[in-house]
Amino acid sequence: MREKDVYKKILALIRPYFPKLIIAMICMVMVALFSTCQVFMVKPLIDEIFFNKDQAMLNILPFALIAVFLVKGVFYYSYSYMLNEVGQSVIKDLRNRIYTHLQSMPLSFYHKIPTGELISRVISDVTLIQGAVSHALVGILKDLLTVVCMISYVFYLDWKMALASMLFLPLACLPIVHFGRKHRRFSTQNQQTTALVSNILYETITGTRIVKAFTAEKYEIRRFANMVDRLFNIILRDARVKCLSHPVMELLGGVGLAMIIFYGGRNVLNGTSTPGTFTSFLTALVMVYEPIKGVSKINNVVQRGIAAAVRVFDLLEIKSDIVEHHDAMELPLIKEHIALEHVSFSYDGETTVLHDINLKVRADEVLAIVGPSGGGKTTLINLIPRFFEVTHGSISIDGRDIRDVTLKSLRSQIGMVTQQTILFNDTVRHNIAYGSPNCTEEEVCEAAKAAHAIDFIKNMPQGFDTVIGESGAKLSGGERQRISIARALLKNAPILILDEATSSLDTESEREVQKALDNLMRNRTTFVIAHRLSTIRNADRIIVIQDGRIVEQGTHDTLLPKNGVYKMLHDMQF
Ligand code: ADP
Ligand code: MG
Repeated sequence: MREKDVYKKILALIRPYFPKLIIAMICMVMVALFSTCQVFMVKPLIDEIFFNKDQAMLNILPFALIAVFLVKGVFYYSYSYMLNEVGQSVIKDLRNRIYTHLQSMPLSFYHKIPTGELISRVISDVTLIQGAVSHALVGILKDLLTVVCMISYVFYLDWKMALASMLFLPLACLPIVHFGRKHRRFSTQNQQTTALVSNILYETITGTRIVKAFTAEKYEIRRFANMVDRLFNIILRDARVKCLSHPVMELLGGVGLAMIIFYGGRNVLNGTSTPGTFTSFLTALVMVYEPIKGVSKINNVVQRGIAAAVRVFDLLEIKSDIVEHHDAMELPLIKEHIALEHVSFSYDGETTVLHDINLKVRADEVLAIVGPSGGGKTTLINLIPRFFEVTHGSISIDGRDIRDVTLKSLRSQIGMVTQQTILFNDTVRHNIAYGSPNCTEEEVCEAAKAAHAIDFIKNMPQGFDTVIGESGAKLSGGERQRISIARALLKNAPILILDEATSSLDTESEREVQKALDNLMRNRTTFVIAHRLSTIRNADRIIVIQDGRIVEQGTHDTLLPKNGVYKMLHDMQF
């Protein structure tokens, strides 16, 4: 991303808050004015009270001082609070935008970018941008204001000497630019490494059971230590730049000062200037120096913010490859069939996982898909809700290509129970009602009953209100699966996809749940992937997928005599 684009985008983020920002800036100028006012009040203190012994002035001045402090305080509060508000508003908007964007991303996106990295972008990169926005904008203005005032004053005092010292000013800008650039580079590395660290954390904390089971703690500790070490080195290199920038700036200032003393001092000695002017000039010049140093510091914050902004905007720039046509229609309820025509699919564009699949499934048909593991069963059923886009060929429902209908109308017709049960750290009730926000208490209860989940739910400490832990950590595999079956039951969608939905159940409860599922499959289009062949005996049709191809199809009774893959799978199980 080009630098100019980044600035433009950051500016676009701030634009809605321009009015507030302007008010904040005005308040800031007022603070500066009242600060000067305080300095001016020293003059009447010395001249009127000490020299003229003016009693009236003594009565007024303390109150005037309090008044000035009070007014200044009000302006200070307003400006710093408003700055915080603008900065935080920008963060909030940006976080929401990234999250909305993430929700629009297809599954393949999440397979490519590690979770920890995404979390680090939403949390920490965005914070860095905020620093650049709120501190930099106004900080730079404040410092520039001071610089302009002081420089004007210096020119007013002795324009020739001022001109001479100003020649030196551009030189002071060089290290600012140089150090800024370096700092930005290190900051990028810093954020990238932080993302890696956060990813290791995410992986090993969520996978802690495996880490323990394989006693890989030492290995993980080493891996983490290596990464933290890398981060440490980057931060130290960055610190070197930051710490060097201060003495270098000061040295340059010193050289400038020395030159002025040499030149100005000579003028005083030969009588072309007075000591008073010289001192005053020098004081003003030193006061120019502070804000210039401030600019260098702010520049660091800005560079860091820009490095973070590049990463955030790059993320926002990634386009989903699964998008709705602008004229996508609503998909009416399925009546006739789902048809796959010459469907092939590849995850990476290199190895083809599905080859030329042709399949027509009637609207009330129960289609069982079996085959050896890795054959492409899960891949096939993931194409129907358009989690992935077919590479060649097409999938249509009642003759409508699924690429021509809205994702919402397509996916709302599909209920899914997957191999990995996905549950949220919420109550049992909310996990079952997920995706059906308008259902009643009875419906949730019915679904739980039908999924044979009601008994263990009733036995939980708070029943339906029990929070089940991250990914349902407090439940057994079978319980988790029954909750996700209840969820699919409650959604009551016309197309049902069961991907080894009962694989975690023991034979006893599988038989129970199977009854529920058999009821559920009635009058629906059902795709059921099962590894236990006993559960699909009653399917209307069985297809066998091996190496991405449909190698056999028929019913249990017609497939067995064929002595093919189905027979082989069957014999292995019985
Ligand atoms: P099945 O469900 O029949 O066991 P899958 O459909 O899960 O098989 O996998 C089919 C093939 O696709 C496997 O070779 C697997 O390695 C590959 N595969 C699965 N998911 C992905 C993915 N997200 N990216 C790349 N390859 C994948
Ligand atoms: Mg699978």
